[in-house]
Parts: sequence; structure tokens; C-alpha cells
Amino acid sequence: MNKNFVQKFGGFSRRKLIFEKFAKKKIKNKIEKMAFLRENIFQKIIDKKLPADVVFESEKILAFRDIAPKAATHILIVPKKFFRTAREISEKNLEIFGELFLAAKKISEKLKIPDYKLAMNVGENAGQVVPHVHLHFLSPDFQSNL
Ligand code: 5GP
Repeated sequence: MNKNFVQKFGGFSRRKLIFEKFAKKKIKNKIEKMAFLRENIFQKIIDKKLPADVVFESEKILAFRDIAPKAATHILIVPKKFFRTAREISEKNLEIFGELFLAAKKISEKLKIPDYKLAMNVGENAGQVVPHVHLHFLSPDFQSNL
């Protein structure tokens, strides 16, 4: 067979294989992300597909009472936009992370709890169970370090 022909089509099929591998990986990642979002309990609460005792809502934030409170008042402050953990903070999305603290201040004023604990678990090894960024707001009688 003509050497040039083999080089040409051999090269093409290698590129095709690499492309197919890349495309398959992209599709796999997308399917995994979709499955994960379906399982993300906070996303369901944000989408109003699951009930929650909402104490504060703005365009970017939803805050609701924790289902298993570790203080008399235990609220979860959640950005509506999805971030898996606070490791995803960057110069581009600083504002949304700032909104979490602003929401905490507004909740403290609304519920008349001037002193409070704010806590955030970043990653499974630090105790994060729900993989959607959230800030815990606890009244001073908290009994657990989460
Ligand atoms: P993490 O451990 O991820 O920092 O905190 C997750 C928090 O979400 C826990 O305090 C847990 O009690 C709370 N939680 C888990 N599932 C639900 C739920 O379906 N509804 C509400 N309101 N809180 C939940």
C-alpha cells in the first residue's frame, strides 16, 4: 500500500480515536453532573421541589432552617447559583460569597439574634455532607461544632 496513504489515513484514525475519547469523556462528565444535580437536596429546595422553612430569600440567596438543628436557631444560607464547595471562590464570583455574609447579617437583624456563629465545612474531610456551598448560621446556644 502507498506509504503516504497509510500515513495520511493512519494519522486521521488516530486523531479520530483521540477525538472520540475526548467526546466520550465530556459526555460522561455531563451525565455525572446532571445526575449529581438531581441528587443535590439543596438544589431541589431552591427549585421549590422540596419543602423548607425559608427565613430569608433574595435574588441570589435562599436561607432556610436546618432539618436537624444544632442550636435553637440553625439556618443554612445557600447561594441559588451552584458551587460545590467554597474552593470554587475566585475573583469572578466574590460577590456571591459576600452575599452569604450579608444574608447572615439580615437574618440576625430579622430574628433579633445579634451574636451568632457562622460556620462552613469545605469538603467531605472537613464535614461537608451536602455538596452545595452553604453557610451555617447558629444562635449562641449551639451544641456542636458541626
Ligand atoms: P454540612 O455537613 O454539609 O456542612 O451541612 C449540611 C446540613 O444540611 C446539615 O446540618 C443537615 O442537618 C442539613 N440538611 C440535610 N438535609 C436537609 C434537608 O433536606 N433539609 C434541610 N432543611 N436541611 C438539611
